[in-house]
Amino acid sequence: MSQLVYFFGNQRADGSAKMKNILGGKGANLAEMTNIGLPVPPGFTITTEVCNYYYNNKNSYPKNLKNELRKNILQLEKHFGAEFGNPKNPLLVSVRSGARASMPGMMDTILNLGLNDSVADGLIKITNEPRFVYDSYRRFVQMYGDVVLNVRAKNKQEIDPFELIISKKKKQKKILLDTDLNADDMFEIVQQFKKLIKHKTGKTFPTNPIEQLWGAIGAVFESWMNERAIVYRKMYNIPVEWGTAVNIQAMVFGNMGNNSGTGVAFTRNAATGENEFYGEYLMNAQGEDVVAGIRTPLEISALKKENQKIYNQLEKTRKILEKHYREMMDIEFTIQNGKLFMLQCRVGKRTAISSIKIATDMVDEKLISKQEALLRIDPEQLNQLLRPIFDGNEKNIAIKNNLLLTKGLNAGPGAATGRIVFSAEDAERWHDKGEKVILCRIETSPEDLKGMEASEGFLTAFGGMTSHAALVARQMGKVCVVGCSSIEVDYMSHSLRVGEKIIRQGDWISLDGSTGEVFEGKIETKPSEVLQVLIEKTLSPNNSKIFQLYDKIMRWADETRKLKIRANADQGDQATNAIAFGAEGIGLCRTEHMFFGEGKIGPMREMILANSKNARVAALKKLLPLQRKDFEEIFKAMNGLPVTIRSLDPPLHEFLPHEKSAQKFLAREMKLSVLRIERRIQELHEFNPMLGFRGCRLGILFPEITEMQAQAIFEAAANVQKNGIKVFPEIMIPLVGHVKELESQSAIVRRVANEVMKKNKIKINYLVGTMIEVPRGAMTADEIAKDAEFFSFGTNDLTQMTLGVSRDDAAKFLIPYVEMNIYNRDPFETIDRSGVGELMRIAVDKGRTIRKNLKVGICGEHGGDPLSIEFCNQIGLNYVSCSPFRIPIARLAAAQAVLKQS
Ligand code: PEP
Ligand code: MG
Repeated sequence: MSQLVYFFGNQRADGSAKMKNILGGKGANLAEMTNIGLPVPPGFTITTEVCNYYYNNKNSYPKNLKNELRKNILQLEKHFGAEFGNPKNPLLVSVRSGARASMPGMMDTILNLGLNDSVADGLIKITNEPRFVYDSYRRFVQMYGDVVLNVRAKNKQEIDPFELIISKKKKQKKILLDTDLNADDMFEIVQQFKKLIKHKTGKTFPTNPIEQLWGAIGAVFESWMNERAIVYRKMYNIPVEWGTAVNIQAMVFGNMGNNSGTGVAFTRNAATGENEFYGEYLMNAQGEDVVAGIRTPLEISALKKENQKIYNQLEKTRKILEKHYREMMDIEFTIQNGKLFMLQCRVGKRTAISSIKIATDMVDEKLISKQEALLRIDPEQLNQLLRPIFDGNEKNIAIKNNLLLTKGLNAGPGAATGRIVFSAEDAERWHDKGEKVILCRIETSPEDLKGMEASEGFLTAFGGMTSHAALVARQMGKVCVVGCSSIEVDYMSHSLRVGEKIIRQGDWISLDGSTGEVFEGKIETKPSEVLQVLIEKTLSPNNSKIFQLYDKIMRWADETRKLKIRANADQGDQATNAIAFGAEGIGLCRTEHMFFGEGKIGPMREMILANSKNARVAALKKLLPLQRKDFEEIFKAMNGLPVTIRSLDPPLHEFLPHEKSAQKFLAREMKLSVLRIERRIQELHEFNPMLGFRGCRLGILFPEITEMQAQAIFEAAANVQKNGIKVFPEIMIPLVGHVKELESQSAIVRRVANEVMKKNKIKINYLVGTMIEVPRGAMTADEIAKDAEFFSFGTNDLTQMTLGVSRDDAAKFLIPYVEMNIYNRDPFETIDRSGVGELMRIAVDKGRTIRKNLKVGICGEHGGDPLSIEFCNQIGLNYVSCSPFRIPIARLAAAQAVLKQS
């Protein structure tokens, strides 16, 4: 094992910012700040490797740690000019955790270590501040008692035993604030704390600083495995093997009077990105007072007036840090008797707009390159710029008021508030009356589409990230929370239950689709400026700084990326949105969605219920002009950009009503017996409809469907082209596993194309290709490429079939699977590279052995996921296609993919 302890102090450190892996974020940056000459109290860091050793060796330490610790303590005493346990000149230290990734508040900290009765007496002599000394002593015994000796409340109902002692004292003295307790009170409290510890543990509080230190080190390592830390690691994918370091650092005190203080700050504004100092401080206070909210901290700008000298030191430090790190940093500092000390610095977390503002400003300031700026913005964060968001205060109030009902999967980001309804029909009806509604279903299906369109957002009890509700939400740009398994939906009584709470039709609820949170009641939302400019066109770009920043980053991304970006869209308005967001074509038009539009579901059902080819053809005839009109709208909106139109794909039962009452209604409308409809539904029933009669299988058995669709596409193309607008259709056959399946369908498409072109005396440029979404299709891609002029990966189905996991109802085991790290991420969200990804790679290679320049894209939901986009770039795809609202994300992710690869 290499070096176990790294020293920092007096402008020289053993470590540096590059050594985060072994020193943790905090330790590495303390070393770095020391090296660049900033005033850091000296100390040392015990490495993360010791933490791993500790857990791999039955909670014991490497043999020479004791020796190294002794050496480093001596060095610290020398540098700081103070000594552990020496009442004349005592050294006190803080002991803090520090993992590679920041885990705020998840692990334990101990301050003022080194205090005992005689050191306290000595300190009083030196400082003449008995209250300060006993307050520090009291804080130390309390933290140590809690963290090291496990004296704490046993459950949420119990009050912390130390706080109980303090509050008794305050009651006895008839005062409200801790700060009103005097030195004698604090002294007594310390004695009572120690008694409590003796009573609870049977041991006296340790007086030897070295013994105290070992206890604290052990407790910090132990806290790596506490419940909070485990949950946090899971949430942010932090591997347990990273371990935590322990930082031991000489204490400096912000509570030594009015020339002392403490604060936290960002070197630029973390909310807006403005180049201004942004933070809070408190004079005469210790760090925990700022966070605890007992006293209200002041804005850092106030310090300029209160203490110009200290402010100047801070301002200088801010400049040094930004120049050195070339980043916006988040800092913690303490001022002891007018002298500034830096206790921590790390890259600051920020909002999306702040992230873009800072990155672009830093390019202008020549601190970073354009490429670095692009890499610094998290593509997912762009969602914040597109969606309405909850007013932060309002949401916090809702949480405080216990209105958070539950949490599901965050399938469609943004904030929505509305009155809850439980059927698509009610959603439409209420919407028509001018109500804002949230549609809640156990799960949704295509027959809910119109109701979905009428809703602000959807909430479902079942379903995962590629469930019907989730993909429609993203395509429509709606807010959506799915897989909310703790809600019980009761369609009969139009209500849902979460635990004891019942929410009835018409009650207000609010969804945060970015976090998956579901709230009872109405929470105000704020609109996004980018949408006001791009989609609503109610705001001029010149009047929106946010839009200008967004636009700048998008242009930089476009200069860099190689992948083209297309949209999944199946209506004219969606296509128009897609163009506004920068789409370069449509990568997937799901024609089945069109059949739920005005007047189409009737003939569609007629076609499905038909019991002869003639009857089917008659119904299809009614559909033809309606489909043609849909395609005309799309071609016009896309103005010559490629439009990939997929022939009918879903199992037919999805087009028939499932509820008895609706079936009766349909029977009346179609002048058929209810029995006939029931029988047809039974005939269409399949055990595994996703693996059943769907995709190209429909067009193979009912070629007249493909024929009608091809005719609608080419007639629409001819009509639009005649009006001087260019068109470029790409007809795509779904669910192909065998080349013969494709050949049967492509022959129909090509024949119809020729007929329409001949009749209209017009030449239309078009391609016929296929989806690769069946593993056999991927493995035989060379055979398929002989007929297909392009491939588009349908990774929703390809994932389902490769993993043998149902895309619609796998959430119940897939979420635990991800928690257990069987899959690192939800494979329906991010491509499983070694399984599904390998099949994709094989298909691309095989396809291009036949057609060297075969155009290959992706149109599964993964097409809008940054990690999947990176993979698509690596394996040489030509484009990714995603929902219109993810296009900005995809543009940036595609640029990052290029930069990461080079
Ligand atoms: C897919 O399977 O990835 C796809 C795009 O098709 P659908 O989701 O409509 O099955
Ligand atoms: Mg599919």
